[in-house]
Amino acid sequence: MKSEFEFIEKIRRYSLSSKIGDDCAVIPKNSKTDLVITADLLVEDIDFRFDWAIPEFLGHKALAVSLSDIAAMGAKPVWSMLSIGIPEKVWKTDFVEKFYEGYFCLAQKFRVELIGGDVSETPDKIVIDSIVGGEALRNKAILRSGAKAGDLIFVTGDLGGAAAGFKLLEAGIQYDSTGKAGLKNLLLKQLQPFPQISHGKFLSENDLATAMIDLSDGLSSDLAHLCHESKVGARIYADQIPLHKNLRLVADSLEEKLDCALNGGEDFELLFTVNPKKNFKFKNELKNKGFSLIGEITANIEIIELISNKKSAVLQPKAFRHF
Ligand SMILES: [Mg+2]
Repeated sequence: MKSEFEFIEKIRRYSLSSKIGDDCAVIPKNSKTDLVITADLLVEDIDFRFDWAIPEFLGHKALAVSLSDIAAMGAKPVWSMLSIGIPEKVWKTDFVEKFYEGYFCLAQKFRVELIGGDVSETPDKIVIDSIVGGEALRNKAILRSGAKAGDLIFVTGDLGGAAAGFKLLEAGIQYDSTGKAGLKNLLLKQLQPFPQISHGKFLSENDLATAMIDLSDGLSSDLAHLCHESKVGARIYADQIPLHKNLRLVADSLEEKLDCALNGGEDFELLFTVNPKKNFKFKNELKNKGFSLIGEITANIEIIELISNKKSAVLQPKAFRHF
């Protein structure tokens, strides 16, 4: 097996369901509503490091990553199931209590109800399984597969902050509430990401996005996923990519900053495509929300071009991968 994504493709071929391959599975609930469901696994030393993790932030993040998938469908989160496996040595501390504190703090913000889950013991490392269910209007969930050539590509917020936060942690700089604001911003992007539920809802309510995905693996990979599902290509412009304002704290050159934004992952912003006619109509709203237009969809199937200094190069998906 070459990669996590090739494995998923293989499972998809065996599965009788066409529901695999988006941020959430979409299941019809009744004549007006679809149910959207997502699951995320967080494994110690793979998805997080125990010595970097502040338990409240980890509880927040376990829910946030799943809420981000709900946001990517333009849906509203409703309930959650959280399971955790922990070694005895951690069980004896106040880790679990603080972990749930962080979880509930975010759950309350979005009125997400915890309806179940499981707790078990692991021999050595922490494992967390986060499932969130939400609702979308029937056939209105925004899929990855709806982009057409000519659609414009947007991202919410700014990019690269989470990757920069990861670099800081790797360099031994831990989160400290009394620390410098710039460093704290980057560390919080990595440790306590905020899911873009309201942006997703805005795009869905106004029928604006033809396709959408959340930026969990990184722009280069997530745009490749969207192009793959939509059977299209893309052209993006380096100078239009919104870079996190504090990237200079970890990256000297523009190239390094772009690398954080393109390949870093875990920003949990939304990447979406808009029909140019809709863009014309909603230009001011899109701008006022701070969304950045970074390029356009092309008919060049699965080829992503990056235009930088008026030169074009093929952008390879290079995001963080587990395998
Ligand atoms: Mg996702």
